[in-house]
Amino acid sequence: MTLHRKSRPESILVLSAHSDDFVLGAGGTIARYAQEGKKVYCVVFSYGEKSHPWLKEHVVQKMRAQEAFNASKVLGCKTTFLDLTEFKFRQQYDERKDLQALLLRLLEKTKPTKIFTHSPEDPHPDHKAVHEITRLLYEQLPRKPEVYIYSVWNPVSFRTTLPAFYVNISKTFSTKLKALKMFPSQRIHIIYPVFLLFYRAIKDGIKIKARFGEHFFRIL
Ligand SMILES: [Zn+2]
Repeated sequence: MTLHRKSRPESILVLSAHSDDFVLGAGGTIARYAQEGKKVYCVVFSYGEKSHPWLKEHVVQKMRAQEAFNASKVLGCKTTFLDLTEFKFRQQYDERKDLQALLLRLLEKTKPTKIFTHSPEDPHPDHKAVHEITRLLYEQLPRKPEVYIYSVWNPVSFRTTLPAFYVNISKTFSTKLKALKMFPSQRIHIIYPVFLLFYRAIKDGIKIKARFGEHFFRIL
């Protein structure tokens, strides 16, 4: 008689500079993978407190963390906050061995088959830093996952010959919109127009003959 050991569910890791980037860039894909039974982990590097100069930092942190946790609950992923300082991610990563160890531990524990991270073409310095940190971590992994980049803001040129990766999010696009509604504090200063979300999802969907899609590029 053969004993069938229950195989571990596939795990996915999404790295996000700020509390809402993972939802904007990959929310539909996260929800889809979670619905398929995959384990999806998100790491948010900073609370983004600089954007609310009139509020006390800890107030913003608490608010942002709560919003991101609510959004994660909607999408079905597990989210960790690193509490780094905006515009100093790379410097802090290079200086803090504990931070490097923590991220490596997380990767070793979760063993993702796919990592989603920011694009190097993204104009935001924190997004660029997360991209660089992803590459540094990748170098240290004994078992190499696939690495994909997502874009938060359009237009990101992606003048690239990298292979594109489309995910059909027809069934989870509404979940992504619902998760974005969990960020009321962002609405004051970032207006990410809903029509733009629809435009992108429809445009990406057309490529794969689906109603809605999300697209990425594979870099590693
Ligand atoms: Zn961001």
